[in-house]
Amino acid sequence: MNRKEFAEFLIGSTEHTRDEYEKMYPERNLDEKAMVTRFAPSPTGFVHIGSLFVSFLDTKFAKQTNGISYLRVEDTDQKRTTESISNITRDLSNFGINFDEGMLADDKEIGNYGPYLQSKRRDIYRAYAKDLIEKGLAYPCFLSEEEMNEIRSMQEDIKARIGIYGKYAKYRNLSIEEAVAKIEAGEKYIIRLKSPGDFDNKIIFDDVIRGKMEFNENDLDIVIIKSDGLPTYHFAHAIDDHLMHTTHVIRGDEWVSSIPLHVQLFDMLGFKAPRYLHISPLMKKDEGTVRKLSKRKDPEAAVSYYHEEGIPTYAVLLYIMTVANSNFEAWLDANPYGKIEDFDLTFNKMSASGSLFDMDKLLNISKNYISRLKATEVYDMALEYSKEYDSELYDLLTKYKDYSINIFNIEREQKKPRKDLAKLSDIKNEMWYMYDELFNPEKYDFQNITDKDEIKTILTTYMDKYYTVDDKDSWFGNIKALCDELGYASDMKAYKENPDNYKGNVADVSTVLRVALTSRAQTPDLYEIMRLFGKDRINNRYKKFV
Ligand code: GLU
Repeated sequence: MNRKEFAEFLIGSTEHTRDEYEKMYPERNLDEKAMVTRFAPSPTGFVHIGSLFVSFLDTKFAKQTNGISYLRVEDTDQKRTTESISNITRDLSNFGINFDEGMLADDKEIGNYGPYLQSKRRDIYRAYAKDLIEKGLAYPCFLSEEEMNEIRSMQEDIKARIGIYGKYAKYRNLSIEEAVAKIEAGEKYIIRLKSPGDFDNKIIFDDVIRGKMEFNENDLDIVIIKSDGLPTYHFAHAIDDHLMHTTHVIRGDEWVSSIPLHVQLFDMLGFKAPRYLHISPLMKKDEGTVRKLSKRKDPEAAVSYYHEEGIPTYAVLLYIMTVANSNFEAWLDANPYGKIEDFDLTFNKMSASGSLFDMDKLLNISKNYISRLKATEVYDMALEYSKEYDSELYDLLTKYKDYSINIFNIEREQKKPRKDLAKLSDIKNEMWYMYDELFNPEKYDFQNITDKDEIKTILTTYMDKYYTVDDKDSWFGNIKALCDELGYASDMKAYKENPDNYKGNVADVSTVLRVALTSRAQTPDLYEIMRLFGKDRINNRYKKFV
């Protein structure tokens, strides 16, 4: 049996040969600078914020360079496949992350370089494996599970590197006849790479973000086709990135250690390797230490968290931009209304060391972002959010639409807009007192004026003689007049000079008017609030208090 027949014997026939597949995936017709990127998740659980980061970079870089981004799902480890593709695409698309090509849902894809689901590309991987066997670069391995375990524990005992290489690669030099005899006798096998590498050789690898790195050459005979006939991740990704013409692989730095293997694989397969950007994980400060954001411990690690909390997706993306490029924040400060698409990400502003995931900063960015929106935009977001997460708020927003928009409009669209909302789930906390249905204060904090009768006098005198919301000047003029009548200083300067001449000052009186109405000492502009309430509702609140 010659090698060609041997390959056929091991793999069986394929629908197409390697050469045919090469022709079926022609070069893409793109500019020289265009980047072809891919997000390649294994569907093993919820979408992690780190994956959002990577997929955002994929789409952003592709868009910026008139390139292509695509979503390829790496489901060759069928045991670990737990998450549905539709959940992944939904979570990402909630953040406005949509790929030009690839999987759209569990059974939907677009693009000419598919299938984009690896389990549907079985024939392709087999064709390339066959070619490697024909060239003597891959071989059948008959190591049983027990033998593998023995090798492993022996290597652990003598503190040798773990894996199948050198003398541990027992079947790499078996003759074709010997292998055929074993198979005919019913022995099970998998296909391994026949690595030409020497561990004592050094190789230099140039990462786009990290620059030059030195590694030992790979000498592991890794599995390329498993016993279930599916390829391993390493083998499959090399073939796919080649056929789909990926120019830049952006991925987590847990893959850095696989670089010697990946470089070798591309080489043995006769492919040009893409450029790699290995991204550091997002870190979190935790009781004095810094650790990776953990799927298990940190709710904010799951992208669904931002949706549930009502943190606007665009605000999350703005934050991600600050993590991606160190100069973005300064740009955003200078262009508060600037759009993400107006800023070009660059490689040299990307950090090679781990970035701290700073929730306070994210919320601060979100606060600023929400403060710059129009009231109607905030209303629409709030409505959408509450529809899913807070039916009580949803009912109020629907019932009092214009009133609610007016509330959102207080101190908005001005030079220093109000910044009390970082997330939509804050709305109730910040605005509950504006709705009679929610108004049920536990306590009133009047601050300086504490005497109950005095407070009653202020409230009744105000409503009887001084209430007006015609315009802000006369509103405030009337409050001052109220102060004069009741012995409070209407002029702060005069008060500071002779505090003993007065019962208090105009700020104390305003606080009484504010607290009796809202129960809170801090609110947005009181004049605006009173205007929205109108005389009857204010009267009711004051009566309620009295
Ligand atoms: N499927 C791999 C993962 O789950 C992709 C790694 C890569 O991007 O090459 O992380």
